[in-house]
Amino acid sequence: MPTLFERIIAGELPATIVHRDDRVTAFLDIRPAAPVHILIVPNKAIATVNDIADEDESLMGHMVIVARDLARQQGIADSGYRLIVNCNSDGGQEVYHLHLHLIGGRHLGPMVQRA
Ligand code: AMP
Repeated sequence: MPTLFERIIAGELPATIVHRDDRVTAFLDIRPAAPVHILIVPNKAIATVNDIADEDESLMGHMVIVARDLARQQGIADSGYRLIVNCNSDGGQEVYHLHLHLIGGRHLGPMVQRA
């Protein structure tokens, strides 16, 4: 079964795409946590951080470079932003296709709630 994000990448599900190249697709999060909330997704299906192969090293770097450029385009590079990758259940991962959240446009507060 293809994941939700594979279907978005294939154009089978609607999304607001803000960047696409041969390695990654980036689109607006459907339930934004902040004024800017973009998901940067590898075009190839990788389920979680645990499934990243050594050969994916440059793809992972490319995802961060795309996030950097999108932050500039969105005008939040100087004010700041957060990049998040959730992994598995304790990490709060909902969609099992690796993705980098680019979140900004407001003060985000502490990284995680302290118990
Ligand atoms: P995560 O919890 O890290 O797996 O994040 C999954 C993210 O995907 C959440 O922030 C959701 O709001 C977002 N999401 C789920 N379905 C869609 C969709 N169809 N289009 C865009 N974003 C989505």
